[in-house]
Amino acid sequence: MSKLDDKLFANRYKSYKETHLKVTDPEKCLSCKDKPCTYVCPAGVYAWNELENRILTAYEGCVECGTCRYACTYKVIDWQNPKGGYGIQYKFG
Ligand code: SF4
Ligand code: SF4
Repeated sequence: MSKLDDKLFANRYKSYKETHLKVTDPEKCLSCKDKPCTYVCPAGVYAWNELENRILTAYEGCVECGTCRYACTYKVIDWQNPKGGYGIQYKFG
């Protein structure tokens, strides 16, 4: 059985020039203790940056599972489906 990373590597991505997910109120992240977005996302899209004191997002790797919208402690993640024709293209369904 292949590991998650192997499966993700098999996918193809067509990134749009603009992000389809945003943290709408970054101030909330400062008081978000566990920062669940950094560990629930299977694609590792969210990462806490100590220097900038904020969440950085790598939207290009999103697999469109929708988990982050529900897991965000303060519901400040605005996630929309990528523009038509863009986003992940699953190879194995
Ligand atoms: S929709 Fe899923 S893959 Fe995309 S950023 Fe949210 S948790 Fe990560
Ligand atoms: S879960 Fe939401 S509030 Fe917490 S760090 Fe992530 S984006 Fe910010």
